Amino acid sequence: MSLYSLTLHDASEKLRKREISSQELIEAVFQRISDTDDDIRAYLTLCRDAALAQAKQADRRLQQESTSSPLLGIPIAVKDNFLIQGVRTTCASKILGDFIAPYDGSTVARLRSAGAVIIGKTNLDEFAMGSSAENSAFFSTRNPWNFDRVPGGSSGGSAAAVAADQCVAALGTDTGGSIRQPAAFCGIVGLKPTYGRVSRYGIIAFASSMDQVGPMTKDVRDCALLLEAISGHDQADATSVNRPVPKYSESLTGDIKSLRLGIPKEYFTTGLQPAVEQSIGAAIGQLEKSGAIIQEISLPHTEYAVAVYYIVATAEASSNLARYDGMRFGHRAAGKDLTETYMLSREEGFGPEVKRRIMLGTYALSAGYYDAYYLKAQRVRALIRRDFDEAFKHCDAIITPTSPTTAFKIGEKIQNPLEMYLSDICTISINLAGVPALSLPCGFDAGGLPIGMQIIGKHFDESTILRAAYAYEQQTHWHKKKPRLNQP
Ligand code: GLN
Repeated sequence: MSLYSLTLHDASEKLRKREISSQELIEAVFQRISDTDDDIRAYLTLCRDAALAQAKQADRRLQQESTSSPLLGIPIAVKDNFLIQGVRTTCASKILGDFIAPYDGSTVARLRSAGAVIIGKTNLDEFAMGSSAENSAFFSTRNPWNFDRVPGGSSGGSAAAVAADQCVAALGTDTGGSIRQPAAFCGIVGLKPTYGRVSRYGIIAFASSMDQVGPMTKDVRDCALLLEAISGHDQADATSVNRPVPKYSESLTGDIKSLRLGIPKEYFTTGLQPAVEQSIGAAIGQLEKSGAIIQEISLPHTEYAVAVYYIVATAEASSNLARYDGMRFGHRAAGKDLTETYMLSREEGFGPEVKRRIMLGTYALSAGYYDAYYLKAQRVRALIRRDFDEAFKHCDAIITPTSPTTAFKIGEKIQNPLEMYLSDICTISINLAGVPALSLPCGFDAGGLPIGMQIIGKHFDESTILRAAYAYEQQTHWHKKKPRLNQP
């Protein structure tokens, strides 16, 4: 087996037994990137020199200490909306095209202290707004399973990099599905933690009441290990919650006897691709065979989720993105006075989708429309959240498809924003409610594209969804399939 295709837990074991060194592993991964990234285009920036220096250090630590950190010496990629001190951080926007981050964000700092080696920054939709990675101001990333297809978004670069073995694991962010939908499209595991579980300090804000950082990995064990490393209270983020971090990897027992799994009928109605429906059906059958109790539930306000999300998210975005004024950050145009400089900088710096969201959000917050749109959306958001509270009185976790379809063609939806927005229909409610959810591979369609199953949990109950996911993964082989990268 090539070094670059190792999982995090296998690589960690080999490093510890000194069968391999971190330097060898990092070299193998950079070689893999140089062999495949002309086709896939997952990375915006590579940190080769810094990574090799960190690998050397990790090797020294591995010789000296018997450390308990499973991340020591492991190559990790992060989405390009994470700040890394001294490294270009673009958020896939021209407005931050030359921006060098002045400090490390909290998750990056945690990765470093766990000994992980950060190898590069991955492509995304500009400011994490999108579902296909096509909104990047620089280039589109391709799906490793089929280069004509999108990898999903907005964390499309991270998902493609994990699927193509261009890193051992990656981090993404998820505001409305941006970890889970690309994980589903690329056939990997992705988890959006409970809002408040992981610090948001040092990630570029999109919609602050929903943004959350999470792991994107080759299997469920890796996901648990990476989540453990990045979770926990952070004084620098007032929304991070001060609760002990469980040993997530210890919840991977393989035992789901009597676990009550709810199937919300609202997620199985319109627009589901038949292959997705069949795979999820089969996966539910498998979970039942393993001892889970399956029951139908209802999340009655699901139909409003997309509308509510696109008011709340755009409102928050319009406020968060006001800071890009050409004065303090990034691109500055040469206007004849201050106002024109503001206007031109933003005109030149932002792409069409970002402008659309700023306008929608500003409109929703404007004096005459605030009550009709923003306030109303907040009220419906409360109802959506209540749906989950109610459902979790009857079940321990909820199973749905992650996306109604498999990866769509590059160019297919980019001209039609509404259609693009609808591709998040299965993931968005989860962010509005703040609960955690994971996507894992559960099959392929006739064209060989991966299908993802979503497992949703109670607030701060990542352990149960990881346990269910692991039990399923143990019984199946989907996560072991790899894309063929020498496509015509
Ligand atoms: N696709 C959704 C959007 O465009 C979600 C994005 C995200 O989770 N960052 O807003």
